[in-house]
Amino acid sequence: MKQFLFIFCTAIFITACSPKPYSETNKSYKKQVKQFATNFKTYPLNDSVGLPFANQFVGTTNLSMRRPNFIVIHHTAQNSCDQTLKTFTLPRTAVSSHYVICREGTVYHMLNDLLRAHHAGVSKWGNATDLNSSSIGIEIDNNGSEPFSEMQMNSLLLLLERLKKTYSIPTANFVGHADVAPGRKVDPSRQFSWKQLADKGFGHWYDTTNVEVPNDFNALQALRNIGYNTSNTKNAIQSYKIHFTPQDTTNFLTNGDRKILFELSKKY
Ligand SMILES: [Zn+2]
Repeated sequence: MKQFLFIFCTAIFITACSPKPYSETNKSYKKQVKQFATNFKTYPLNDSVGLPFANQFVGTTNLSMRRPNFIVIHHTAQNSCDQTLKTFTLPRTAVSSHYVICREGTVYHMLNDLLRAHHAGVSKWGNATDLNSSSIGIEIDNNGSEPFSEMQMNSLLLLLERLKKTYSIPTANFVGHADVAPGRKVDPSRQFSWKQLADKGFGHWYDTTNVEVPNDFNALQALRNIGYNTSNTKNAIQSYKIHFTPQDTTNFLTNGDRKILFELSKKY
């Protein structure tokens, strides 16, 4: 009875807190999650790779859900949270993210952290591809050419702290959409302060005071080591600059960049 009361109260709470226009899409979310649960419970297992190994099923006693290992940050390129929530609840857009952070700091959670959101698209960071499968996507409500609000950044930092701790996400694995999709994406924009994040342990930063770069230092190799897909050099450099030297809009590497990359490549 106690359990029933708890579920009942939680249901009332969720209904009361969900913005009204989304009661139908909330139902759709629950229906899809229920289907996943049914798939998990199905016995005998269906081997998704098409081989018949499920015929020799021996259920282990030791298992848990897979965990996210990267955080990918975006700006929405839209004008309001309402617009973004609408975009992420229309099936035809096929896009979503785990969290949306509004200008006044409100955070909307749109799917369970352990499920796959559709935010990164074709992506690569180091040897990791399909970042959607291994990351949590955070969209920040911002049109791409305005500052990020203080309240928004405070909410973001609080969320990052919790996610880093809960899923043991490595410091180096906090990246932007532009970082994992050079040439295709430029978010979050140059107005986003990655230094502010790095100061709190989300991503790395650099100090080039008294740094001497060895003559044989290969800056492009360093970009690759940090994680950038360097198959198109100009695009990789652009993404690096958006993140690490946002005031510089050129797409070639200077001596200053060589120092920064030398420092960063020791950390990533
Ligand atoms: Zn994005």
